[in-house]
Amino acid sequence: MSNGPIPKKADPRKLAERGAQITGIAEISAMPRLASFLCSEQGAVDVTLEFAVDEQHLRTVTGTAKGQVFMTCQRCLEPVSIDIEATFNLAVVLNDEQARNLPRYFDPLLVEEEDVELLPIVEDELILSLPSVPKHVDCSVKTSWGDSETVRLQQEKPNPFSVLASLKDKVDKR
Ligand SMILES: [Zn+2]
Repeated sequence: MSNGPIPKKADPRKLAERGAQITGIAEISAMPRLASFLCSEQGAVDVTLEFAVDEQHLRTVTGTAKGQVFMTCQRCLEPVSIDIEATFNLAVVLNDEQARNLPRYFDPLLVEEEDVELLPIVEDELILSLPSVPKHVDCSVKTSWGDSETVRLQQEKPNPFSVLASLKDKVDKR
């Protein structure tokens, strides 16, 4: 176990046969494609990758990458912190044909040389896990329809306590 960065490159086939695990961090500043969706390059995500050989003799890479990033709120345009979590469900393939024959629950990890670069794999899944419309849960900027909708609902909805009180009145008057 270490909190250092994950290795730049690894041989997934060898690691799978050893049943190895990689844990470490991936700096956001080292993932420029991911950073282009964010308003800050600061921080890092925690990565865990497990390598194994499954019962169909597929070499698999599973695991997670999670952390906190800052995106631009689409309502107030201020930074909003977003918890992201990506899940990996990969199986090593050596060519397109193997990729097509994979069970649907795996994504293909095309390995053409012994070593693959780990960061782009982590980066791809993290980009897919980003919210399409980031915003503060309690953003101070409200859309105009949002406010009038709330007022209307409050007017229409009977207060549950007044309903109970009128029921109680009826019972008492019997
Ligand atoms: Zn906001």
